[in-house]
Amino acid sequence: MNDSEILHLIATENADEIESLFARACEVREAHYGKSIYFRGLIEFTNYCKNDCYYCGIRRSNAKLERYRLSLDDITDCCRAGAKLGYKTFVLQGGEDPFFTDTRIAEIVSAIRGEFPDCAITLSAGERSRQAYELFFRAGANRYLLRHETATESHYAQLHPPCMNLASRMLCLRDLKEIGYQVGAGCMVGSPYQTPEHLLADLRFMETFRPHMAGIGPFLPQKDTPFGMEPGGTVQLSLKMIALTRLLLPQALIPATTALGSITPNGRELALQAGANIIMPNLTPLTARTLYAIYDHKLNAGDDALEYQRYLEAMVRGIGLVPDLSRGDAC
Ligand code: SAH
Repeated sequence: MNDSEILHLIATENADEIESLFARACEVREAHYGKSIYFRGLIEFTNYCKNDCYYCGIRRSNAKLERYRLSLDDITDCCRAGAKLGYKTFVLQGGEDPFFTDTRIAEIVSAIRGEFPDCAITLSAGERSRQAYELFFRAGANRYLLRHETATESHYAQLHPPCMNLASRMLCLRDLKEIGYQVGAGCMVGSPYQTPEHLLADLRFMETFRPHMAGIGPFLPQKDTPFGMEPGGTVQLSLKMIALTRLLLPQALIPATTALGSITPNGRELALQAGANIIMPNLTPLTARTLYAIYDHKLNAGDDALEYQRYLEAMVRGIGLVPDLSRGDAC
């Protein structure tokens, strides 16, 4: 696809064109992964963060937020609960919390690896040194999620304080890939100051970098952040970005994000019908989960994990797809 074709699809309101974009994305997904939709258990292990991203509710300057950290035992309990449901992937996500030093993270990874030798361990703990990423990898981590957020340097600077920059993030992504991780990049859709050209740049970056995973979800305002009064990203544009990513990265693992599920009740179903192939149910204990408030009105379903798993499986089957509890590595 050339740039003008992509920009046209980003802009179009034509229902037939949009429908055919989603249908093509689903065909491409099916060619590589069949009808499988993979499940990953998400564990939000800390909401402390030393960063101050303008969009994020767990940013350092949000004094209104009550903070929490899960202990090693809490985390392994979450994994046990997930293993009982049959999950083979655990995703540990958190703010950039200095309490969780490189050594501590490596200890957590080792403990999980020891107890669940067959499972995939995914980390999403922000920017660290190459040595840290190597340490985690040796401890048994397999995958790392670090969204690029926006591939345009000037736009990156509008979303982050001056001490953060796109080049450092890109360096982390390259290090992670070289070390041998399955790597996840991705961006927010509809973030403040974003233009269609920025979205095109995000797609082109992903096409070139070829991440194994691509997390794409709408920006949603959180009231205690500098962007608290900004409008959120739309369902439609987020779905188009998922579909376009699928066309440019046919083999990517693309989640139907919680953010989409948070703005519209069937958001995740729609994402699966636009080319996504991952669902990440939340295994975090309920009280902590509520405090992992990166944006307002975050979907908080699934207090009964087994019942919720059945509900999600029925949802997936309801749209003609098949829940798949295997590890679901990138192909
Ligand atoms: N510290 C980790 C995890 C951050 S939270 C890291 O740096 O990777 C995970 C993702 O949530 C972020 O990458 C960002 O894309 C998304 N996010 C944060 N605030 C958001 C908001 N207000 N709306 C939508 N997505 C948001």
